[in-house]
Amino acid sequence: MWRQLRALRGCGRRWQHRSAIQVTNEPILEFKPGSPERAALQKALADLRGKTEDIPCVIGGEEVWTPTVRYQLSPFNHAHKVAKYCYASKELINKAINAALAARKEWDLKPVQDRAQIFLKAADMLSGPRRAEVLAKTMVGQGKTVIQAEIDAAAELIDFFRFNAKYALELEQSQPLSVDISTNSMVYRGLEGFVAAVSPFNFTAIGGNLAGAPALMGNVVLWKPSDTALLSSYAVYKILLEAGLPPNVVQFVPSDGPEFGDTVTSSEHFCGLNFTGSVPTFKRLWKQVSENLDRYRNFPRLAGECGGKNFHVVHSSADVGSAVNGTLRSAFEFGGQKCSACSRLYAPASLWPHIKEKLLEEHGKIKVGDPTQDFGTFFSAVIDAKEIFGPILTVFVYPENRYKEVLELIDTTTPYGLTGAIFAQEKEVIEESRRLLRNAAGNFYINDKSTGAVVAQQPFGGSRISGTNDKPGGPHYILRWTSPQAVKETHVPLRDWRYAYMQ
Ligand code: NAD
Repeated sequence: MWRQLRALRGCGRRWQHRSAIQVTNEPILEFKPGSPERAALQKALADLRGKTEDIPCVIGGEEVWTPTVRYQLSPFNHAHKVAKYCYASKELINKAINAALAARKEWDLKPVQDRAQIFLKAADMLSGPRRAEVLAKTMVGQGKTVIQAEIDAAAELIDFFRFNAKYALELEQSQPLSVDISTNSMVYRGLEGFVAAVSPFNFTAIGGNLAGAPALMGNVVLWKPSDTALLSSYAVYKILLEAGLPPNVVQFVPSDGPEFGDTVTSSEHFCGLNFTGSVPTFKRLWKQVSENLDRYRNFPRLAGECGGKNFHVVHSSADVGSAVNGTLRSAFEFGGQKCSACSRLYAPASLWPHIKEKLLEEHGKIKVGDPTQDFGTFFSAVIDAKEIFGPILTVFVYPENRYKEVLELIDTTTPYGLTGAIFAQEKEVIEESRRLLRNAAGNFYINDKSTGAVVAQQPFGGSRISGTNDKPGGPHYILRWTSPQAVKETHVPLRDWRYAYMQ
């Protein structure tokens, strides 16, 4: 990638006409004993031991502290304050809005190639020299195991930055037809105003993407990170700045959720919300937007990805091993704190005794503990004590001749529509399940667990109350963050106002 970047930098105008860059998914490292990545991670973890990082608000290009000081605690060791931070006041949030708006025009006019290069560089930093740091911060701050941190803070975030850059460059090439007498072009402008990016605790990558994707498309952003993911969020923010993101393009605004939400949605310049989190928070913000609609200069774009309560349905023709192992991973990895985690298992009565025995046997082998001390840990402490969002699996056993009714039950008994999986070997069963569960999941898996979507392979998101299904990780997503302008330039002078038929 460095070689590619150097080549791109040297290309000058020719580079402006390049339609695409080649991007592949970041390889997931294994961290085997003796591997260099394991040694680097262990060193990074040792560097964090007992340390508290000071994390300011970054507003108007300056580090700012307020009296509302708070601490982020390590979920598996509450005695360890991993970060000291403060909440931005309403005045500071408004200052951040003004500073962002002042930077908007220049940033929006910057060629997309230049903006993309910043994110490609950030991806390279994450892939190489900064990988161990963000992994360690994600492990200590959010309680992730090695592999959960790796697929999130390294692989997914790198992929988001690289693939979004690729999609943005390709979009630039998507131009309207021109004819002999006129040239037509599409200008992919950022939105006129500021975008509020509000991120959840459970994925470092999501924070980077919620703030990063609109910025890539020429927008200015206020990023409100989660209180319980500040350590890793700040690391990502600093990497973006070091990669060349101008200081005022993304304002880093830790703050009380409702105070932030109330302030941004009451600004006339609010033009977009890029949210991931719980349904109640998203609904509250949506309602505030509608209440404030008369103030806005633009209709704001609202993108929100929320929860799931996702299903695994096992048919009597299923491979039991895949169903059991997939369910264990999906329900219990990261303590069930993934939006895509399986929380509903539907098992046929004929297979249930076997499935139950295997589930209990394997579940008994799961090690829960401190993921930084023992790499054999499968999951760690949950983040906090709010609503159920944890390692809980419910099971519904059904008579196998009522499979179709079970599919209807799955489809109609939750308001969610995020992810779901079917385990079956019979082709007709798979086809019928796909048909009947068409609206039950935005990400549907066949003989695979309901978690683990990969950028550019399974763009992610669901509908119903699971969200607006804008599919981060796919080419459609960046379209939410651009307001295209169609330009027609006519080359032939208009000599008469009358039409030919009028003669
Ligand atoms: P949350 O709703 O509690 O918080 C999300 C963010 O919103 C945080 O930064 C929080 O401080 C902020 N917030 C809270 N109240 C606010 C308000 N009134 N105005 C503005 N911001 C406010 O969610 P969480 O516990 O951090 O995250 C877990 C949730 O996220 C789960 O429901 C999970 O399913 C969902 N999630 C969904 C996806 C997806 O892609 N669908 C991915 C990850 C997480």
